[in-house]
Amino acid sequence: MSDPVFIFDVHLDLSMNALEWNRDQRWSLERIRRWESGMKDKVDRGQNTVCFPEMRRGRVGLCVATQIGRHSPYFHKLPGWSSPEQAWAQTQGQLAWYRAMEEAGEMVSIRTRAQLDKHLDLWFQAPPQDDGTPYVKESRKKPGNLPIGFVLSLEGADSIVTLKHLERSYADGLRAIGPAHYGPGVYAHGTDATGPLPAKGRDLIKEMQRLGIILDVTHLNDECFWDALEIYDGPLWASHQNCRALAPWNRQFADDQIKAVIERGGILGMAFDAIMMVPGWVHHKSKPADFNLKIERICDHIDHICQMAGNAKHVGIGTDLDGGYGYEQTPMDLKSIADLQTLPGLLKQRGYTQVDIEGIMWRNFVDFLRRTWE
Ligand SMILES: [Zn+2]
Repeated sequence: MSDPVFIFDVHLDLSMNALEWNRDQRWSLERIRRWESGMKDKVDRGQNTVCFPEMRRGRVGLCVATQIGRHSPYFHKLPGWSSPEQAWAQTQGQLAWYRAMEEAGEMVSIRTRAQLDKHLDLWFQAPPQDDGTPYVKESRKKPGNLPIGFVLSLEGADSIVTLKHLERSYADGLRAIGPAHYGPGVYAHGTDATGPLPAKGRDLIKEMQRLGIILDVTHLNDECFWDALEIYDGPLWASHQNCRALAPWNRQFADDQIKAVIERGGILGMAFDAIMMVPGWVHHKSKPADFNLKIERICDHIDHICQMAGNAKHVGIGTDLDGGYGYEQTPMDLKSIADLQTLPGLLKQRGYTQVDIEGIMWRNFVDFLRRTWE
């Protein structure tokens, strides 16, 4: 196999896994799986695909890591906190976990262009893999010990109690927000919900633009998507977002939405959740084998977007791995985030150049951040 390519994964729910699944992300996949054997509280127990050692093995040295806390209205069927203040408290616990991982040397917060460039230098100057070669002078610089960079984002804005909380969050490193998640939201309506962007959402998005927070349009329902684009002309991306033409469901974007993101200089992160990759997946029923689903399927989504853009500059990686599901709902050849390393070869077979491939694996989103943080 050729040298692994650096990967920037722009959507990982790391703190949710740490605090709701009680997964210590420093453990190996095997250790987490063994510890979870026999647990029945979540559908994906023992089927995790993400942890720090696997991220390092797969050269996923940079990610966008989420905070997530939902407010669910009285007697609503979706789970969530009974007040935005409780949701805020949850996201603050998640922030505390990221801080603890920074103090432990496992992660490093990336908030500026200088920090981004410094972090990339650290990874690119290190040998591509811990191949056992002893590092005589600086053992801490062995790739196995390199900190994983993370840009902090918020999935669903329900936890932002007031716009003052948004300002505080920015000061704490928050650099991207997806105003909606599943269902109705305080600021915007998400997947499977209907309705236009509420007045509160307009205020939030305008304040995001003032602060320079990236608008993540993923999960916005169609109405809110177009409403948001009308009032916002700051940087936007779709962190974990596939094509509706290839997996029909409102969670994915229709072609006119993809075009709009491209026209705005945005980038779409390709997600490896089976339900977002193929048509007809039945939640908690279908199996990857029913569709002979392999990683290669994502190349169809990538091709679809690149054909529309006329280039390969508007696609990246936003896996959403371990985002409430495990390998029971991923391609059959993806049991660890490190398996993403098969993607460059698959893209090459489809005729993508080395420059295109590196763009998709990391550079498109990195350049986006460089432009945004100029
Ligand atoms: Zn999501």
